[in-house]
Amino acid sequence: MIIDGKQISQSLKDAMKIDVDALAEQYGRRPCLMVIIVGDNPASRSYVRGKIKATEYCGFDGHLVELPEDVSEATLLAEIDKLNNDPLVDGILVQLPLPKHISEDKVIAAISAEKDVDGFHPENVARLWLNQHCILPCTPKGIIELLDQAGVEMAGKKAVVIGRSNIVGKPVAKLLLDRNATVTIAHSRTKDLAAVCREADILVAAVGRAEMVTAEYVKPGAAVIDVGINRTEEGKLVGDVDFASVEPIAGAITPVPGGVGPMTITMLMRNTIECFLNRVNNK
Ligand code: NDP
Repeated sequence: MIIDGKQISQSLKDAMKIDVDALAEQYGRRPCLMVIIVGDNPASRSYVRGKIKATEYCGFDGHLVELPEDVSEATLLAEIDKLNNDPLVDGILVQLPLPKHISEDKVIAAISAEKDVDGFHPENVARLWLNQHCILPCTPKGIIELLDQAGVEMAGKKAVVIGRSNIVGKPVAKLLLDRNATVTIAHSRTKDLAAVCREADILVAAVGRAEMVTAEYVKPGAAVIDVGINRTEEGKLVGDVDFASVEPIAGAITPVPGGVGPMTITMLMRNTIECFLNRVNNK
């Protein structure tokens, strides 16, 4: 089974569009997402375009704040502060990576935790690990949603996550643990990675190495989630999984493109609605 992230995220966005119209009726305004981009990194520009397009599609208010590559850290922090204090802004996202002269840690921590639609703020990360109500990071949240939509049972299953980053590997491992999977986190120092992965009923690849996960990493029938976004020398977009060799033996697999990527943006929309509801209901 190919898990069609594009189609699943389209139907989730269609449902959100209806919800957002109802929220606008009920509360007299629409959820508002502000996206800040610094500089001209082409990949960042393209991600941001996708996010703004989804915002418009779902009927949110929202704007792009564009700052030059050489903007000072202080100016960026002042912009965030302004949005933190704007009662009509529900979500704030600063597109990463930032130029080297700006501390990403400082910027992430400067966003008010209640408007942190990316779920990267230390308070939200701590809450995730403490099993407290929090904003979940979008890619891990989207992965769990894909597994649910594909009917993949997680409880009691062995899950292996390759990658231990703060934005994908570690949080998705925690979410799989919360769904009662038995989770192994693998990384660049893992010995005999293929053998470790072959144990998995659910294999999540979040590495950033084109088509590294071949058939010898996969147990027949396993659900394989490919988070990777890599460009080959020929300019083709490929995942971390060698789709051609893995698809015939996997029980379920996400393609690249059209798997995890669209779900990440759709979960960003969900998080914006969640932040909106938290805010309007706390008032
Ligand atoms: P990072 O570079 O932060 O982390 C990569 C992880 O992979 C590290 O933990 C690293 O191990 C591990 N790793 C690297 N090489 C190997 C190897 N040979 N064997 C085993 N493990 C290895 O990446 P991200 O988590 O940010 O992203 C991973 C991929 O997912 C990228 O391709 C990125 O573009 C993509 N991505 C896609 C998203 C989407 O929406 N689809 C969203 C976010 C990311 P170690 O810690 O030991 O260095």
